[in-house]
Amino acid sequence: MTAARTTHSFDGAAASAAYRSALEVIGAVEPRVADAISRELTDQRGSLKLIASENYASPAVLLTMGNWFSDKYAEGTVGHRFYAGCQNVDTVEALAAEHARELFGAPYAYVQPHSGIDANLVAFWAVLAQRVELPALQEAGARHVNDLTDADWAVLRRALGDQRMLGMSLDAGGHLTHGFRPNISGKMFEQSSYGTDPATGLLDYAAVRARAREFRPLIIVAGYSAYPRRVDFAAMREIADEVGATLVVDMAHFAGLVAGKVLTGDFDPVPHAHIVTSTSHKSLRGPRGGFVLAQPEFADAVDRGCPMVLGGPLPHVMAAKAVAFAEARRPEFAGYARAVADNAQTLAEGLTRRGARLVTGGTDNHLVLVDVTGFGLTGRQAESALLDAGIVTNRNAVPADPNGAWYTSGIRLGTPALTSRGFGAAEFDRTAELIVDVLSATTPTATRDGGTSQAKYVVADGVADRTRAAAAELLSAHPLYPGIDLA
Ligand SMILES: *Cc1c(COP(=O)(O)O)cnc(C)c1O
Repeated sequence: MTAARTTHSFDGAAASAAYRSALEVIGAVEPRVADAISRELTDQRGSLKLIASENYASPAVLLTMGNWFSDKYAEGTVGHRFYAGCQNVDTVEALAAEHARELFGAPYAYVQPHSGIDANLVAFWAVLAQRVELPALQEAGARHVNDLTDADWAVLRRALGDQRMLGMSLDAGGHLTHGFRPNISGKMFEQSSYGTDPATGLLDYAAVRARAREFRPLIIVAGYSAYPRRVDFAAMREIADEVGATLVVDMAHFAGLVAGKVLTGDFDPVPHAHIVTSTSHKSLRGPRGGFVLAQPEFADAVDRGCPMVLGGPLPHVMAAKAVAFAEARRPEFAGYARAVADNAQTLAEGLTRRGARLVTGGTDNHLVLVDVTGFGLTGRQAESALLDAGIVTNRNAVPADPNGAWYTSGIRLGTPALTSRGFGAAEFDRTAELIVDVLSATTPTATRDGGTSQAKYVVADGVADRTRAAAAELLSAHPLYPGIDLA
């Protein structure tokens, strides 16, 4: 049975007792917070969640975050702290790092980053520290860093040797932290992007190589948030070596598929990248946080993440990472990861069969990108219409998106969360049917000048209600955290 392979196993009575007691203690101080926590469970239970970056962590992971580890300061590294009394923090940080090394087959792991963005900053700074002379940076940074103008940054970059970063373009599925302007990486580095082949939507390694030869980046970033295919990291490393670049792979989205051995060989980033960064809360199903895996030559520089670019470590979250990584080392997790990928296939096939157009024509990871212009809609209209019908997705740009980054032309769908609820092939095919029903029944509103709105839309009478009822039926057959009863 799929459900047994994919959902968490835990003692419902024990978890119920734990949460009821916790809510009683919280409610005695601020009942509205206790109430919001209970409501959040109700809302999550009632939501058909296809957000590709979200998941449901186990009660063990969640409970590990709510305790006195939160009270501890622990700057420094295991066995080398700037605060006294860190022996228990040492235990959990060492365990989290050990589990991460074993899980991913990595020589070194740093589990302090608070999020994926922080993990990237640690990695990028480590590469700069390792590969670029830093005295010049200190000179340029004599003023407060927030006061630096773009011209100052240009000076700083020159001091750093005009360092460059090559990452996947945003509309091809890359992430803001891969050298784009709204993120500090876009200020620190001169950026250039590689995209996908306009005909196939697939990464074109020859084009990446040509761009890398021309641009000569210090860092090549591989990894994505919205690319529905595997990436050949062996090929990316070959390109990096050819131009003397450091390969950083950001596996924030697909870490669960690496942990669960769905992505192996050339598609496993760990043996190929110099540094791998990740979140722990997406497909990996752990606590909200980040981590870094590195080849030994970068270990010292990565270890300086706090206080160089990170605030003090969060020991309660490191403890929860240890629990989550331990869970991911169990054989059941490989079954979960396999089901996430199989379910994405089923979803892609179900959508295609019913007339939806998918970017790249399908998927070989945990996500599907639907080009909704085929339904005459923008991504924003599709996202809103689906939400009206009880289906939670997010709009996303497609390559060379004619509707720009705000309205977009796509919706991104991911299978990690619903697979954690025990959804299998039948449920995902039904989900595809519901999605196509809603999109087919949605039309953009006409504007006064005779065009069509990019935001407003109408859904044909009754379709949203009918779909919400169908979604509720699917969800009630696969309860979230079954056995946890807060009443
Ligand atoms: C989600 C994501 C991040 C950011 O993670 P946060 O924990 O939200 O900071 C970074 N990189 C990629 C590729 C992501 O998908």
